[in-house]
Amino acid sequence: MTNTSSQNAIEIRGLKKTYAGSKKTPSKEALKGIDLDIPRGSIFGLLGPNGAGKSTIINIMAGLVNKTAGSVKIWDYDIDDDPRNAKAAIGVVPQEINMDAFFSPIQTLDIQAGMYGVPKAERRSMDILKLVSLEDKAHSYARSLSGGMQRRLMVAKAMVHSPPILVLDEPTAGVDVELRKQLWDNLRALNDTGVTIILTTHYLEEAEELCDRIAIINHGEIITNEDTETLLSRIDGKEIRFRLDRPMEDVAAALPGLCATKTGQRSVIIRYNPSEQEVGAMIEAIQKADHTIVDISTDESDLEDVFLQLTGSD
Ligand code: ADP
Ligand code: MG
Repeated sequence: MTNTSSQNAIEIRGLKKTYAGSKKTPSKEALKGIDLDIPRGSIFGLLGPNGAGKSTIINIMAGLVNKTAGSVKIWDYDIDDDPRNAKAAIGVVPQEINMDAFFSPIQTLDIQAGMYGVPKAERRSMDILKLVSLEDKAHSYARSLSGGMQRRLMVAKAMVHSPPILVLDEPTAGVDVELRKQLWDNLRALNDTGVTIILTTHYLEEAEELCDRIAIINHGEIITNEDTETLLSRIDGKEIRFRLDRPMEDVAAALPGLCATKTGQRSVIIRYNPSEQEVGAMIEAIQKADHTIVDISTDESDLEDVFLQLTGSD
């Protein structure tokens, strides 16, 4: 792609979508006027609970859903004025796996490349399979692939026309922890080659782990859009629980300067902000109060807590 006049991979302005209702169902305003810039070269997370509007945004970018109002630019190409170039700039991995069971991964990619009009000499199917760690399976039947492999093949399919932007809708929903980590590694490797990666997720942990920047969407509106570091520093919802050798009498006096409370006879819970307080200092304070720590457990703030903190309401 030679079009580089903007620093943004995606520019969305005033984007609205209302799904028409029917006799039985009322119409649904899924997007209420969204503004969103996604920087080139980033791994960008669109985070929000089910029904927030994430897939609607993705599907509008992919040309699968018609918007009601607003504008979308993909790699500087407006999807209305320049749909061909806009489409060429993006590869979309949909939420559901759909694949042809009778073709091998290499055949699948060749067919997809044909559909995108990629000349034979410019096809790099094997390189793409390597990027998603499927080179060993290049000639196996797709139906013999595990779920995680099939999902990676979907990623490969979205890459055949070498788009500078790859979009994944809930890439790890229903994928077990091991495969999730592997897919994250594949996405990081792709990002290292310069591909801008956009993914939707309803897992805070996934967005935290993978994304440089996170936009949170709820009820069709963007609540926040900032660097992952900045976002995390605003969320002070972490809790750590210490089980002690014996009950601590006056927690507030024994652990000054810490937001500590007693639960049960021998447990103390400290709420803290990871960007400001270190667990090491808490351990020292407990030891200084002449207690031995028997066990430690932590409780990550989840998406619900984040919404509560960012919106100040439910
Ligand atoms: P998410 O991907 O964040 O879970 P969606 O974009 O799929 O959210 O959905 C946003 C809202 O729009 C939801 O309330 C959903 O029920 C509604 N919606 C999505 N697709 C359709 C459709 N084709 N027809 C009617 N309503 C829809
Ligand atoms: Mg969705």
